[in-house]
Amino acid sequence: MRVLGIEGTAWAASASVFETDDPTVAASDDDHVFIETDAYQPDSGGIHPREAAEHMGEAIPEVVQTALHHARERAETAGEDGPPVDAVAFSRGPGLGPCLRIVATAARAVAQRLDVPLVGVNHMVAHLEVGRYRSGFESPVCLNASGANAHVLGYRGGRYRVLGETMDTGVGNAIDKFTRHVGWQHPGGPKVERRARDGEYHPLPYVVKGMDFSFSGIMSAAKQAVDDGRPVENVCRGLEETIFAMLTEVSERALSLTGADELVLGGGVGQNERLQGMLREMCEQRGADFHAPEDRFLRDNAGMIAMLGARMAAVGDTTAVADSRIDSNFRPDEVPVTWRADEAV
Ligand code: ATP
Repeated sequence: MRVLGIEGTAWAASASVFETDDPTVAASDDDHVFIETDAYQPDSGGIHPREAAEHMGEAIPEVVQTALHHARERAETAGEDGPPVDAVAFSRGPGLGPCLRIVATAARAVAQRLDVPLVGVNHMVAHLEVGRYRSGFESPVCLNASGANAHVLGYRGGRYRVLGETMDTGVGNAIDKFTRHVGWQHPGGPKVERRARDGEYHPLPYVVKGMDFSFSGIMSAAKQAVDDGRPVENVCRGLEETIFAMLTEVSERALSLTGADELVLGGGVGQNERLQGMLREMCEQRGADFHAPEDRFLRDNAGMIAMLGARMAAVGDTTAVADSRIDSNFRPDEVPVTWRADEAV
């Protein structure tokens, strides 16, 4: 099966071709993943929805053309007739409405022109499924640490359940707000990671309530600390230690409550080595397995959309054009998980 994936929830205008012999089993060495991404880079400040949508309008047609060209070459080499892909998968949400509309329009147009099924994918479920698919884990708890979101998810009764989540901003957006305050260009996460390496821990408020977490008070305290003259690298170190300890604590409690012994990481903040290190150490201490996908599958990318789209298409979970409207608040627990046979956890 060969699937075209299209992603464009915020900053990444991305198209992918995913090819596998059998999408119903875990990743194999024979899988083929091609990803073409054109990133929106704000001149100043954070992601501006109108500018991001303008970027999508320009970049989506180009990345889709490139991916389709790649798919046609693969089909020709394989001596196939007919459309170069078996389905077109796209991010239905959550994300910025103006961006999602451009992606959905492109996906509908390509699916109709090629006369292949359309598959509407939940972007957050794709962030977690890419880790499950590539690790081969059966029924992991998942920490989604992305720009606009932060969730800890577990599977039960045909749905991914939200076990814990942010009560205010997404984790990456919180970090980006701090870095804007100190005058660094977007995205801020990699800069905080670099500067934290030279810093000494600066204490910041630790906010976990039940299984949920909050980042806004930490950010205010971090901004204040810099304004009060604390070395920025110390505040960066404090930010990483505090926020990632919160995420690790809730992930550990989710493992304990569900009895699961596998953890996967998803989302752009998951590229952070300190976060990966804390989660790995926690898992080692409790005898659980940990998997973080490669960076290109952690940050927003169309590969994860095509991979989940292939699994959904393989079980007939496709989307009629009439039902393919976008949903900028699409929650992961709204998605019936049709592509998993197990009822574990
Ligand atoms: P979502 O997937 O929730 O829609 P998003 O569209 O913002 O979020 P992602 O690619 O998942 O996109 O995450 C982007 C975020 O990841 C940004 O906030 C960025 O600062 C952060 N980030 C990137 N690299 C790192 C890093 N090394 N350490 C910490 N944060 C990072």
